[in-house]
Amino acid sequence: MILPKYSMGIGDRFAHQGKAQLAAFIKAKELGVEVAPVWNKSNREHTIVHSEPTSVREEANHAVKVLGWKGAYFVDADHIGLKTVDRFLGASDFFTIDVADFIGKPADDSDIAAFVSACGKYAGSLRVPGIEGALDITPARIEAIARKYLHAVKEAGKVYRHIEAAKGKGNFAPEISMDETDQPQTPIDLLFILAAIAAEKIPVQTIAPKFTGRFNKGVDYVGDVKQFEKEFNDDLAVIAFAVKEFGLPPNLKLSVHSGSDKFSIYPAIRRAIRKTGAGLHIKTAGTTWLEELIGLASAGGEGTQIARDVYAQALGRFDELCGPYATVIDIDKSKLPTAQEVAGWSGEQYANALRHDQSHPQYNPHFRQLLHVGFKVAAQMGDRYTDALKKFESVVAKNVTENMFDRHLKRVFVGD
Ligand SMILES: [Zn+2]
Repeated sequence: MILPKYSMGIGDRFAHQGKAQLAAFIKAKELGVEVAPVWNKSNREHTIVHSEPTSVREEANHAVKVLGWKGAYFVDADHIGLKTVDRFLGASDFFTIDVADFIGKPADDSDIAAFVSACGKYAGSLRVPGIEGALDITPARIEAIARKYLHAVKEAGKVYRHIEAAKGKGNFAPEISMDETDQPQTPIDLLFILAAIAAEKIPVQTIAPKFTGRFNKGVDYVGDVKQFEKEFNDDLAVIAFAVKEFGLPPNLKLSVHSGSDKFSIYPAIRRAIRKTGAGLHIKTAGTTWLEELIGLASAGGEGTQIARDVYAQALGRFDELCGPYATVIDIDKSKLPTAQEVAGWSGEQYANALRHDQSHPQYNPHFRQLLHVGFKVAAQMGDRYTDALKKFESVVAKNVTENMFDRHLKRVFVGD
């Protein structure tokens, strides 16, 4: 099960937008860019929405069948670990093995010593093709990286072997993710993390480091775009080097867990993959559910009313909804409209405040972030919400497809 060069992770909390999402990939293909869709839904989302991984598989298969998609596609067990992976084993063929919680827990001293000794040949000034200047690597640096990451990689090995035992070698695409942590990994960190992954014999196809800057949910990147671009290019160079040097799978590629909508770094990513010919997995458009809300708001009548009600309830449950996402949202409460104000908004005004068009005067990133984490409210509305998705399917689908194609696929892979 080999991931193609380009793939994109897409979220769909309520499993109603499979076809609308896939339609965007078909549009990209018509422009000559083939990107494999990877449906992802994390254990946390399944728990909040009360859904099962098989529903994601059914949704993906159905969309592919109805629209006649001939390309590759995957279903991701998103951010799983040993404790959560089992319910995903049947339905998924892509596994995002998340070991961020194990970063910083030291491995056995003897394992660290063996790793430092095996990597001793890279100490000194290391030249990596594609990186300007030499990397300055000392044995102390290698040891510090091993102390921080070796235990996490060994944990990834345990999870990988657990999945392999259930599904069989080569029957799934494994990713290792370390993005949900507080400190970014540098290209040198990444190099030795990959050395450890190779030593652990994990045929990893994508690696998701934490990049520099803030990746808040559903809003744009906050950070130094130039620094990101350098780091991203250096990471690509490290991966190409590591594939040859450590014998990792030749299609190993970077995975960007974007938290959706990091528009200001898309041009840097596009330039880098064009220049180097590298592959890319980018996880984005977990904002599909916001496009549902935009579609409902625009639909008028009961659709608009549901959108207003979702906001009013989300505002009333601010702490409960924001708590689990505290590290990946920045909401200024004083910039949130009151429920009464929103009750007086037209559907168009609601859509304008929510839609991710930063140049629109009514766009409100605080409103957007609160709704982004507010999907629990819609989940609890049950049939009222999902019946509206069916009733207003065409306007919702139009927003979902446009968002995925115009704001994501086109900007990352096609260009202007
Ligand atoms: Zn992630």
